Amino acid sequence: MITKIIDGRKIAKEITESLKTKVEDFIQKNRITPELAVIIVGEDPASLFYVKMIGKTCEKVSINFKEHNLSKETSPEELLKLINNLNKDKKISGIIVQVPLPKHINQDQIQEVVNPSKDVDCFNPINMGRLALGKPEFLPCTPYAVYELIKRENIEVEGKHTVIIGRSNIVGRPMALILLQKKEHANATITVCHSLTKDLIYFTRQADILIAAVGKPEIIKRDMVKEGAIIIDVGTNEVGGKLVGDVAYDEVLGKVSLVTPVPGGVGPITNVMLMQNTLKAAEKLVN
Ligand code: NAP
Repeated sequence: MITKIIDGRKIAKEITESLKTKVEDFIQKNRITPELAVIIVGEDPASLFYVKMIGKTCEKVSINFKEHNLSKETSPEELLKLINNLNKDKKISGIIVQVPLPKHINQDQIQEVVNPSKDVDCFNPINMGRLALGKPEFLPCTPYAVYELIKRENIEVEGKHTVIIGRSNIVGRPMALILLQKKEHANATITVCHSLTKDLIYFTRQADILIAAVGKPEIIKRDMVKEGAIIIDVGTNEVGGKLVGDVAYDEVLGKVSLVTPVPGGVGPITNVMLMQNTLKAAEKLVN
């Protein structure tokens, strides 16, 4: 079987180009430039790198980017005050509070304070609740990237047995909710697996569509996937200085009908979906 290999960078470029035009139209019509505020507390290297990438993506689509770098000693009160100011600031369309936060700050409490209309990461429980009810305002960026990829590749999902490995609030859980929606490119039949799932292979072998969001290098082997399955690999794991996915990519080639590589699959699309959410938030503010 010939396996189709998805070029996530190409998809990200296409979305970026069309988004840039949409943002420029928005600016011309409303005389306001969408602005994304990112708060980072402390100096976690992975977070600093991620925020730098967000800044670059903002620049590509003409969205203003404002970084708030706070020291790791920042008190919860100071952080709350900043978020409240950004919530009220009419210039700010979207707010991200980069996680992880230092241990003395309650992450759940902070995420609840971000104005749901500016919550472009979709971390506020109100937005997750809306998604759970099938009436989402925003979609969390990583599963949104997978959904966008499914749409663009015209992958048939309706009624298909979709097995998601991982139930985190950032990836696995919202992924299941997105594909459960009564909507085009959704309506899937979903199984969600996690670390306590017994006999994982029993489920993965049944998957028409397999979405891996585990964080364990190449845990999904050739014998675990069905012939002709669609494999979407969200995992990003560093092994010996190289990025690898949760799927043993070389092994599944020739057995499955479609696969997303790591790197170069879902990853590049994620930040672009954040821009999509920021434009949506800006539109809400003017309407
Ligand atoms: P996470 O919070 O650590 O969640 C991992 C999930 O995998 C958990 O639900 C866990 O089960 C499950 N799991 C762990 N070991 C397992 C096993 N042996 N068998 C079955 N399930 C197992 O991670 P995450 O934030 O969701 O991220 C998952 C992966 O996606 C990571 O590699 C991360 O780097 C990557 N990621 C990529 C992007 C992107 O491409 N843009 C964005 C975000 C994350 P329990 O719930 O029982 O612990």
